[in-house]
Amino acid sequence: MYKITENINFLKPYHDFMCTLLKAIRISSKRNPHYTKGELKVNMILINPNVRDILNRGVLLDKLYRLKECPIDLCKEYGKFVRRYRSILNGKWRGRSKFTDISTEEFKEILIFLYENLLKYKTFNNAYFTTSTSLDDFRAMMSLNQVCPYCDITKTNKDIVSVDHFLPKANFPVLSIFPENLIVVCKACNEVIKGDTIYLPIAHPYYEEVSSYFTFVVNENENNEFKIEIELNNTNSQLINDKINNFIKLFKIIDRYEKYMTAELHDYRTGVRKSAIAELKGIARFRSITHDDIESCTYKYFQEAIIDNKELKRAMDGSKIKNDYINQIVKENDYQNDIEYIESHFFGFISSKQ
Ligand SMILES: [Zn+2]
Repeated sequence: MYKITENINFLKPYHDFMCTLLKAIRISSKRNPHYTKGELKVNMILINPNVRDILNRGVLLDKLYRLKECPIDLCKEYGKFVRRYRSILNGKWRGRSKFTDISTEEFKEILIFLYENLLKYKTFNNAYFTTSTSLDDFRAMMSLNQVCPYCDITKTNKDIVSVDHFLPKANFPVLSIFPENLIVVCKACNEVIKGDTIYLPIAHPYYEEVSSYFTFVVNENENNEFKIEIELNNTNSQLINDKINNFIKLFKIIDRYEKYMTAELHDYRTGVRKSAIAELKGIARFRSITHDDIESCTYKYFQEAIIDNKELKRAMDGSKIKNDYINQIVKENDYQNDIEYIESHFFGFISSKQ
């Protein structure tokens, strides 16, 4: 829900590798339509000498060489999808991937293989990165003390996160190692909720601060159950509204929040009340507490509960909804219940004098 500000260029070498491979395939077939595996290897090394060690792995070279038979001009296809990546997200370009029928199944698998296997090869990582575990490093860097950029519910750490292909690799196999398509998120969002689904147009956490385009409206009924709604900013464009709505829908935000965030919101509010009570107890040691004391103290702690610091927002789970909830209480002056609750702790001790 918050924009990812970490260095997304970290994975750029994946893109560089892809360019080397696709260029080599193009050059090889231009020079000799019946080029051999050896020629492909030589041409790749000519473009980037660093790949020499990587290509010593027979399996990898075999796979890459199989791409020669691919009926799709991969170089063109990759270039098109990379250049128009943001247009796809904006729903402005409906160019369908050509990897749709059964004849391309094998080639699709090879592209996915690059993500699932190549990125784990030590030789690959040694050639392109300073350590031998680029994907792990990426996971660690992106998840350190942060909440999931999709749901804002789950605090991530590198052992329990997964790397999502924002545009699913099943439908967009050419983007299987495209850095801007790889996002570190919680497992629930990636593996349980999203899977291979995507709605377009959609907001993307590398480009948009989703949280800034809408407000959660929290309605509580008599049974202390929360009904949550989304209020889009009236300054949003239609495109942004569509992108935000699809984001909320894709990650089932409303359902999940009503299920999992209710108790959190209760606790958060209780925490604010407790802080106010603690301060008032301190004052009560020296003098009687007035109704005004309670009111101003309650107001103060609600104000302080709103997190403005961007860094802190991503360090705390559910900070977007907690902020909106507290803001709503402050704006609507809706803390009569809180004041009554706090007053009950000072029953008999409240001075009627100001
Ligand atoms: Zn998540």
